[in-house]
Amino acid sequence: AAKKRGQNKYEFYESAMNTVYTQKLAIEQLLRQAVEQKELDLVYQPKFQLDSGSMVGVEALIRWNSSRIGIVPPAQFIPVAEEAGLIAAVGEWVLQTACAQMKSWHDAGLEPMSIAVNLSAIQLHQEPLVPSILNILETTGLEAKYLELEITENAEMTKSSGMVEMLQSLKQAGVRIAIDDFGTGYSSISYLHKFPVHTLKIDKSFVRGISACPSDSSIIEAIVAMARSLKLNVVAEGVETDQQLACLKSIGCDQAQGYLLCAPLTADKFTDRYVIHAEAAAGSLAR
Ligand code: C2E
Ligand code: MG
Ligand code: MG
Ligand code: MG
Repeated sequence: AAKKRGQNKYEFYESAMNTVYTQKLAIEQLLRQAVEQKELDLVYQPKFQLDSGSMVGVEALIRWNSSRIGIVPPAQFIPVAEEAGLIAAVGEWVLQTACAQMKSWHDAGLEPMSIAVNLSAIQLHQEPLVPSILNILETTGLEAKYLELEITENAEMTKSSGMVEMLQSLKQAGVRIAIDDFGTGYSSISYLHKFPVHTLKIDKSFVRGISACPSDSSIIEAIVAMARSLKLNVVAEGVETDQQLACLKSIGCDQAQGYLLCAPLTADKFTDRYVIHAEAAAGSLAR
């Protein structure tokens, strides 16, 4: 009986492995066609200035609604795209779409603001990233200062010798750089000196921890203090409660994003929101 059970266990293990493998293979195959079949889309989540409460920017987030397997979250398919060598194509589509969208909002006469685009760590090591970004800016006509690239810190990034030069040339072109999910994974503050970074995005795990201010907020306070002394802009992500918001304000965090303020919106819904913001901004100027 024991042997039989052991066998079953092995079979179960094997079939579970097969399922994971088959799933990944299926995702990979479907993802190859997703770009051409227009199954990829972007949603837009606004970023707010905490002292004024006004919208100051937006982050583009990828969505994939597959005709075959339904909605696949980015946390699931971005790693597959990275492994399968598809991230360059997906990443280029994201950059192109996000820059063209922001340019068309600017052209519609809305008060210009910047768009943040997430870059995969793999993209950072793939040539020719800088020329490709500059080319997208040129063809879409979006001014470089309105593009912010969100990169997630990792160990390789800090070791890679070409990284500083690459970020430097993006900075020279006027593009802004944000460190996403700051404080998680590999956190070495030494590279903040070397890297031409404009913004730190405090990872949502630290924001989630806030239930009482100030006792739960010491890490955020430390990050904000560090950002201040390095003259970096600091954004909190994943703000879900009034208490978290109040705490972040009292600490002096510059900006925030989260479901409490606004969930990611489709381009159409974001347009409505943007128009309301632009009208309010114009109104306050006229006053
Ligand atoms: P991220 O860049 O840190 O993006 C923030 C994630 O938090 C998004 O998840 C967003 O929808 C979610 N979020 C926003 N507000 C809240 C909140 O109040 N609470 C909680 N719990 N979550 C909130 P999403 O869209 O599923 O994206 C997950 C991750 O996938 C992103 O994390 C980013 O690293 C990656 N990703 C998304 N779009 C792209 C892309 O175009 N390219 C690349 N390379 N990665 C992307
Ligand atoms: Mg991000
Ligand atoms: Mg990110
Ligand atoms: Mg993040």
